[in-house]
Parts: sequence; structure tokens; C-alpha cells
Amino acid sequence: QVVSIHRPAWIEISQQALQHNVNYIRELTNAKRFFAVVKANAYGHGMRPIVTAALAAGVDGFAVATMDEGLWLRNYGVDLPIMVLGVTPAEDASILAEYALIPVVTSKSWLEAAKEALQSADCLTVWAAVDTGMGRIGFRDAEALEEALTFIEEQSQFRLHSIGMHFATADSENVAYFEKQLQRWQTILADLNLADTVLLHVANSGTALWHEQPSTDLIRVGAGMYGFDPSQGALKQRELEPVLSLKTELVHVKQVPAGESISYGATYTTQTTEWIGTLPIGYADGYARALQGMRGLLPDGRSVEVVGRIAMDQLMVRLPGEVPVGTVVTLIGQVTNETITLGDLADRMATIPYEIATSLSARLPRYLV
Ligand code: PLP
Repeated sequence: QVVSIHRPAWIEISQQALQHNVNYIRELTNAKRFFAVVKANAYGHGMRPIVTAALAAGVDGFAVATMDEGLWLRNYGVDLPIMVLGVTPAEDASILAEYALIPVVTSKSWLEAAKEALQSADCLTVWAAVDTGMGRIGFRDAEALEEALTFIEEQSQFRLHSIGMHFATADSENVAYFEKQLQRWQTILADLNLADTVLLHVANSGTALWHEQPSTDLIRVGAGMYGFDPSQGALKQRELEPVLSLKTELVHVKQVPAGESISYGATYTTQTTEWIGTLPIGYADGYARALQGMRGLLPDGRSVEVVGRIAMDQLMVRLPGEVPVGTVVTLIGQVTNETITLGDLADRMATIPYEIATSLSARLPRYLV
């Protein structure tokens, strides 16, 4: 994908906000290790600025979804531990070992296949996932887990980094399911005879922000580090600062008489004489078509409304009066006392902020500020 650096539409990543969020969550949880979850292009925020900011914020490791994301981090120069959260084909075990990526183990058969693929000099450090009710990946009972752990212990080519689980409802007001998962986790662990060196981790952002920590060895945090609320307002506000801003500039401004239509489908018609501005950003950038009617912010905090259909690369806004070409319009972010969040866009689209952020396309340059 071509990054369009010669068009005034871009994402800003705030180093200060990310640092604040990492410090805040560390203090809240007392976690000994903070692993920054940077899968999916750092939740759409951009790998480079986020990894740079996270390193400066002193994180202890990274978590990614795929082996390729881990390789990207190694090529970028990251030498901290990197956990791969999603299942990696066991045939790639030798590459995982070479780049010291920590893959997830979800079955003994994966270990056996990985052993086949390893070269004699390789040593592979793995983490084991326990499925306590997420229903996605991991060992569902103590016996199967123990068998796999014994295999790891007996094979000199394997090391165990950690054992973890993932909560399905940590960001929900209703704690019943959370407690059921926690109970299962504790039952499974109680049956094992684990060495002290094995780290335990259960916390995503929801767990870190709203629950007592079942383990403080390590937390795996995405949303909270990026400063968005995974509960979308359902749970107590936390002092997180949004890391991402989406900004663009007016490239065309005109006065239009009453009764004129704007954009595809002629879905919007001016009521009176109106000032209409054009912004060089559209649904191909991840500013979805369904966001028609959302607002943007002028530098003095006044709102502009997105009017007419959002096109692939451009959209129109109704201005409060004549505004010069080149004026910055903030579509996500804070201006004076006004804020538009990823959560606001998510509400409009009946989805979650994660999906809005990860939809922001590679065409938008990302800058660390
Ligand atoms: N841990 C695992 C296994 C995950 O899949 C994810 C994200 O989906 C996270 C941690 C981070 O979650 P959050 O962004 O809610 O902190």
C-alpha cells in the first residue's frame, strides 16, 4: 500500500499520552512486567511510532498476533521478549527459535511437530495458553496441560516462558463469567507443580483496569495503552489519554446557495446559503461511509458536520462560515475542550473502538509527536 505523505491527512501518535497510560496502568496493577500488545499494526496506530513510544515508556516486552509481526519487530531492532498470541504453524519452529519469538502452545501435538521442525542447535521458548472459557485456543483441562508441560521439561530444546489465559468479559459490569473463568484458572493451576520461574499472566486491559490482579507477573495490554476504554463507558472512567489523533486540512472551500446537493447520491441538500469544505480523506482511509453526520473540530474548537456521502478519498463538511483552505480539521482527537474519540466513532457505527482503529488504512501516514 502507498503511504500518501503528500496529502494533508495523517495520524498523530502522542508519545506523552502513551507514556502516561503505561505509567498509570503499571501503578494501578503493580505489574512486574508490562507487555505492549502491538498486533495488527499496533491496533492501527502504526508499528513504528507505537513501538518507538513504547520502548521510550519502558515496556518490558511485546505481544503480537502473528509470527510475521514478531519478525517485523526483530528487524526493527527490538531485543525485548516477544510473545506471539495466535497459533503459529509448528513447521516454522526453527525460525521462531532463531528470532527468539515466544509462540503459544495449545496442544502436545503442536510441540511434537515443532520438535520435528527444530534444528539440533535450536532452543525454543514457548508459552502455554489455558482456555478457561474464552473458547478460542488453549488447554481446557489440567491433564492435557500437564502432559504438555512434562514434554517441555523432558525435551532439552524447549523452555517454558509462561502460562496464560484470556478473559472474555473483563470489561463488563457483570462479573459472573469473569469469576467463573478465574475459578477454573485457579483450579487448573492448583493441580500443577510449577517452578517459580514460570510467569503467569491473565490480564488484558479490562482485567488490568477493573479487577484485582490474580497475577502481577506480567500483563498484556493493548486498549488501555492506546488510551481507549474497552468497556465503552460501561465501567468506571479511568484516567487514560487517547494516543491517536486523526487530522486533515481543508483543500477546497466554497459558498453554495440553498437547494444544492452535495456528493454521491445527492443525499444532502443545503437548506440555506452554506459554506462547504472538502477534506482529502475518505472510506478508503478507514473513515467509514457510515460516519456521515459525524463532526470534526476546527482549531478554535468549533464543530463542522460531515455532510453528504463519504467518498473513497474525499468528504465534505458544513463550515460555520468562511474558513481558509489549509485549516486543520481534527476528525479524532482533542481541540481546546472538545474531544472526538475512537469510542464516539465506534458508537456511531455500532462497533468497538478496536475496529475503528484497526480500520485506519496504511495510506495515512503516522507521525510520533
Ligand atoms: N491478550 C490476548 C491473548 C489478546 O488476544 C489481546 C487482544 O485481543 C490482549 C491480550 C489485549 O487486549 P486489550 O487490547 O483489551 O488490552
